[in-house]
Amino acid sequence: MQTMDSFDFKGRKALVRVDLNVPLDAQFNVTDDNRTKAIVPTVKKILKDGGSVILMSHLGRPKGKVDPELSLKPVAKHLEGLLGVPVQFTTDCIGEDAQAKAAALKPGEVLLLENLRFHPEEEKGDEAFSKALSTLADVYVNDAFGTAHRAHASTTVVAKYFPDAKLFGYLISGELDSLGKVLHQPEKPLCAIVGGAKVSSKIEVLQNLLDKCDEVIIGGGMAFTFLKAQGGKVGASLVEDDHLETAKAILAAAQDKGVMLHLPTDAVVADAFADTANTDICPANAIPDGWMGLDIGPETIKNFSTAVKRAKTILWNGPMGVFEMPSFRKGTRTIAEAVADATEYGAFSLVGGGDSVAAVNQFGLADKISYVSTGGGAMLEYLEGKVLPGIAAVKE
Ligand code: AMP
Repeated sequence: MQTMDSFDFKGRKALVRVDLNVPLDAQFNVTDDNRTKAIVPTVKKILKDGGSVILMSHLGRPKGKVDPELSLKPVAKHLEGLLGVPVQFTTDCIGEDAQAKAAALKPGEVLLLENLRFHPEEEKGDEAFSKALSTLADVYVNDAFGTAHRAHASTTVVAKYFPDAKLFGYLISGELDSLGKVLHQPEKPLCAIVGGAKVSSKIEVLQNLLDKCDEVIIGGGMAFTFLKAQGGKVGASLVEDDHLETAKAILAAAQDKGVMLHLPTDAVVADAFADTANTDICPANAIPDGWMGLDIGPETIKNFSTAVKRAKTILWNGPMGVFEMPSFRKGTRTIAEAVADATEYGAFSLVGGGDSVAAVNQFGLADKISYVSTGGGAMLEYLEGKVLPGIAAVKE
């Protein structure tokens, strides 16, 4: 397969799918530039080789209609600051304006196409729309991991029009390398930390991880479905009663496969879902009626941290508690610190999923983690063992 480093972009026009789905304030300023910064290495390499770049992305959910509030135009201005070169803009991602500007693009120049999702054909993976995009360039680069699980025109279908010139940008290659280090050749022991609100959204992830991990830590709201399935009393904690059998099956599978599965033994409980609620600490399987577990307790923090620190490879998805509220943040923060410490002592750590990434950023620990993934849904599907269409389309 061609790679960014092996491919010579000299004299080539590269159509690059990036993720510029960034938050904008009322004055259309980009308020978080993690995603825009992340595309810079790929764009700069193409320009340095003497190629030109045609960037395409979606922004928000315009539902197939033109919505001026969701124009990518303000992002073009922002990119100029990051790239240090002018960024031209087309008022539509296909059609005459795009064709003319793409045709006139010279080596070293950058063009950004208007929001792909102004056309319903984008999300439908429409053939004619994909073909129209493909005629703008002669190389296709996919660098949008966050949408790689969608079989959309720009993320998947367009790739087939570049049979000899399609490759992943640096961002996707980095994601795939890191996920590969965890799922395909992990240094053992491999420990997965899975948290968040609901077990229902992570069943397939857990099932797939049980085939790979030595230890699995379950925290967050989803732990209470497991504790209840074991016969515990969980009070008013978040429970998915229709998944008690699923939880039992996961517990049984862990035992069959010899995976050490850790559940909370104590919890920070509250008498309301509020930062100002009255709180207490109690056994996680003996929570009084009317009280709910909103964070892991001190004994659990100790046990989970010990498990994390024996691992050589760590995967973390989902917070340990309602970390958005300061009263229930300690569990997530301490586990983040344990992951950072283990990394310092030589473990490889991968953190992914919107909330876990927000948590490590909030605690200022992102640069102490080996790899922080950018794709929430895409990463979960990868962890479920699924083939992502956007990845398959480039590899085919
Ligand atoms: P997810 O998107 O499934 O990873 O869930 C993340 C959300 O789970 C965060 O907003 C947390 O506040 C929430 N969460 C974590 N622990 C709990 C808990 N014990 N009870 C209720 N919500 C929780």
